[in-house]
Amino acid sequence: MKWRPTITVGLICAAVVGIALWVIHARLIGHWLEVHTGTVNEPGPYYGFWSGFGSDLTEFAIIGTIATGVYQLVKKYNCHHPGCWRVGNHPAAGGQFSLCYRHHPDYQGRKPTQELIERLHREHLKRQAAMLSKLHEVHRHLTDKPAAAGGSGPGAPAAQAPRSGNTQADPGTLDGTAIPRDA
Ligand SMILES: [Zn+2]
Repeated sequence: MKWRPTITVGLICAAVVGIALWVIHARLIGHWLEVHTGTVNEPGPYYGFWSGFGSDLTEFAIIGTIATGVYQLVKKYNCHHPGCWRVGNHPAAGGQFSLCYRHHPDYQGRKPTQELIERLHREHLKRQAAMLSKLHEVHRHLTDKPAAAGGSGPGAPAAQAPRSGNTQADPGTLDGTAIPRDA
């Protein structure tokens, strides 16, 4: 009869100790996790990391992304002369190269002066005018030829019949088909 309270007390004590240990251990484990992940608002060995350097990790990622973009832009727009870090915004060889004023063959290593700009501009206009006049000449040459050869152009209705016959009637038929379309 005496053993019963003793066993009961012992069991209760064991249960209390077990629960206490579990609670303490759970708390310790939880605390360990909190400290190491920096989620506990309490100074610890990792507090400084997560509130200082660690909190900047995302910013470092952003800065890295921006730096990469800037690097790509620099690579795209810097002078194509090897080892030159100036901005190359002067196209050379028909846009094949972008060069800085120092390395562009037109500027002879100096910044383009007003007279150089004017001279190059005049040269460019002259070149364009020459090209245009050449183009007009070729165009006139091409348009004059069929007019001289196909003198029977107005006689299109008559030329429609021998279409399958000779090849010389071809410009005539082309003119002949164009006339009804316009009319
Ligand atoms: Zn350069």
